[in-house]
Amino acid sequence: MPTYLGMPAFPQAAKSAVGNAQLRRNLTHATTVIRTKRAKAVAELDDWEQLRQTAKAIKDHTLANLGTYLVRLEENVTRAGGHVHWARDAAEANDIVTNLVRQAGADRAVKVKSMATQETGLNEALEAAGITAIETDLAELIVQLGHDRPSHILVPAIHRNRAEIGQLFRVAMADAPAGLTDDPPQLAAAARQHLRNEFLAATVGISGANFAVADTGSLLVVESEGNGRMCVTLPNTLISVVGVEKVLPSWRDLEVFLALLPRSSTAERMNPYTTIWSGVTPGDGPQDFHLVLLDNGRTDTLADATGRQALRCIRCSACLNVCPVYERAGGHAYGSPYPGPIGAILSPQLRGVGSAIDASLPFASSLCGACYEVCPVAINIPEVLVEQRSRSVENHRHFSERAVFAASGYVLRSPRRLALAQRAASLGRHVAGRGGRIRRLPPPLSAWTDTRDAPAPPPESFRAWWARTRGTGK
Ligand code: SF4
Repeated sequence: MPTYLGMPAFPQAAKSAVGNAQLRRNLTHATTVIRTKRAKAVAELDDWEQLRQTAKAIKDHTLANLGTYLVRLEENVTRAGGHVHWARDAAEANDIVTNLVRQAGADRAVKVKSMATQETGLNEALEAAGITAIETDLAELIVQLGHDRPSHILVPAIHRNRAEIGQLFRVAMADAPAGLTDDPPQLAAAARQHLRNEFLAATVGISGANFAVADTGSLLVVESEGNGRMCVTLPNTLISVVGVEKVLPSWRDLEVFLALLPRSSTAERMNPYTTIWSGVTPGDGPQDFHLVLLDNGRTDTLADATGRQALRCIRCSACLNVCPVYERAGGHAYGSPYPGPIGAILSPQLRGVGSAIDASLPFASSLCGACYEVCPVAINIPEVLVEQRSRSVENHRHFSERAVFAASGYVLRSPRRLALAQRAASLGRHVAGRGGRIRRLPPPLSAWTDTRDAPAPPPESFRAWWARTRGTGK
């Protein structure tokens, strides 16, 4: 699977997607269907806003006391027979998992869909170590077979339609049945058959977790296909890579999140499969369980008073489905496993703003606020975006921008200089074309006219007109 290294800034990355009519049709269809269903599912609950505010309060309390709850989680996972590992960054997490798979004597592992392991690039790290990771979520399998990248948190292959998937299965799936058509039930049956032998042969399973309960040391995965349950119950060794922000204090807190998450993500009242495990149980399920707790920029994010709210995210993807920018640009342009509005605020915080793509992400939004309205944990994404934009402008003001502001200040400080500048600017109307618009200017002003035109300056300024008609220049 390709990595995100060296991605161009968002406007360049989005260019080809915006020009791809088929992709835009796929995205518009899928996001429209999901957001309409979600709105109906949410409208069924009278206390949705109370649930939302409760979830926000639980998450904020947990994040404010993260150290306490993580230590409690570690104690209880250990007490239940599991092993806890702490990973400062992606490389450390990948090394821990690679060594654990080797210790288990395996060269293959089945995987549950997991954002944390996409974030660390685990599949690539395992591949470099000679270990094959097999994605078992249907959409992730489509992405893996196509050597592609996910473009949506919940529906990673949202950019593919059924004809493209049928073609991919016929070409890339070695055991695809003869005569496989593009019919969705046939495609699902082919994938199920393809994965069945992998599940039965697997000795190592790798998962993430939607939540981790500190009080009991329990981990929880919600999913729709049952592949997750196979991965976390059939292999002898289970390794779960979980971001530190996934911890919740108690079992009771789950009640709130299990009401919010399915309605916000798949528009279901409850998930078809909710699998919960606590350590190991002799003779039942994996006998060797490892929890890898991942920081990878989360502690730094926690230190940011505005940006830390991004850590409340429960990865439901509702913000993607309502975002007009995501709907047109698709997920790949965000250069991260976290696309859409949440990606625009989370990726630059987790990775820093040193790369072109991360520096550009806070600007990949119209600030319409639809993401905030639908977010089940009330993350004020526009607020974080505006804060990040202002920091970016402070840190990356260009030489040309500084020069323009310095020159403007010099001119505006003197009425005489302003009058001279206005007279000079009025000459610009001679380069205006038909309709009184200026369509092309030389660099650096071409940065404006490359994508829009400009009105021709009037023949005289307001001050000149006032002085001419009222007899005073004051
Ligand atoms: S930011 Fe909110 S709406 Fe978006 S994925 Fe996270 S929890 Fe869902």
